[in-house]
Amino acid sequence: MPDIREQAPYQRYLEGLSRGALVYQHCHECGQAVFYLRPCCSRCGSVELQLRDSLGLGTLYSSSVIFDKERNYNLVLVDLDEGFRMMSTVPGCDAPSIGARVRARVERLEGEESRVVFDLTDGERS
Ligand SMILES: [Zn+2]
Repeated sequence: MPDIREQAPYQRYLEGLSRGALVYQHCHECGQAVFYLRPCCSRCGSVELQLRDSLGLGTLYSSSVIFDKERNYNLVLVDLDEGFRMMSTVPGCDAPSIGARVRARVERLEGEESRVVFDLTDGERS
């Protein structure tokens, strides 16, 4: 019997991160990009989902600065070019502009779970 944990969507997401990839699902039935990973398509319910690596390029849909005692940071929503949206942050940038082009990177911090963060693409640096 297959190990159900290997098939769990979040597990497959983490496996992608472990090899430096942001993965998402493509629905064979309706063509929708699905993210976060799910057992079935969020639009049509199909289970015919193919795991794909994102190129990691996207555009900032929204950007908010969070004021924190220790340090301020930003929370962004990124529209990936493949057609899905995710929440993340742009480290080392005070307030990234909505519409800015960004590139995904897997950040590994000591003692913490890996996560996907975004950097401004070269064309966006001032
Ligand atoms: Zn679908």
